[in-house]
Amino acid sequence: MNFFSLDNFNLNNKEMLNIILFGAPGCGKGTQAQRLAEHYDLYHISTGEVIRAEIKQGTELGKSMEGYISRGELAPDSIVVEMVRDYMKSHADKGCIFDGFPRTTAQAEIFDTLLAEIGSKVDVMIYMDVPEEELVKRILLRGKDSGRADDASEDVIRNRIEVYRAQTEVVAKHYTAQNKYSAIDGVGSMDEVFERLCAVIDAKRQ
Ligand code: ADP
Repeated sequence: MNFFSLDNFNLNNKEMLNIILFGAPGCGKGTQAQRLAEHYDLYHISTGEVIRAEIKQGTELGKSMEGYISRGELAPDSIVVEMVRDYMKSHADKGCIFDGFPRTTAQAEIFDTLLAEIGSKVDVMIYMDVPEEELVKRILLRGKDSGRADDASEDVIRNRIEVYRAQTEVVAKHYTAQNKYSAIDGVGSMDEVFERLCAVIDAKRQ
């Protein structure tokens, strides 16, 4: 193997990294996912963003999901998985950061199969640990300029955190069993948290 093919090999490895950013609502997944996508040249998919875009465009899909979002409940697995499947059709040429997905064990199981079908896999799930009171504070602050109705009501925020504890937290077990789970402290400056995430990802790339 010459230097050039070795180079290519490393490059491909880097590009195909699939990362799940995991944590409760308000833990900072969205902000960090954007930065990481730029830094590592990866796509970034936020299922919440995709759903909000559908609602804004007034599509049938959007209309069917409006109620769930406004109550702080999860959208049905089948719909969300189809959205991700569609996305992967045109975004399988490099790795992705998944932000807000998978959010149930059923989603994780179907996701693994979906990735396997296209010859891919999840490389790492990184949990961003932030205490509950800090989560509520951050979301209420974000709600002031995000314009997101689900960020404006403390009741809806608390319900989202409850739904996270009841249905989403368990997804960590799924990836722990696959030896793909890592956790970082999500409290600190944006740069500090970013560096902690990069340390986990860089270790995976070696
Ligand atoms: P947050 O993490 O702050 O709750 P998101 O943008 O990730 O923000 O999600 C907003 C809402 O979109 C969720 O409360 C839920 O209703 C819906 N949603 C997003 N991703 C999923 C998913 N993977 N499965 C089901 N519902 C989802």
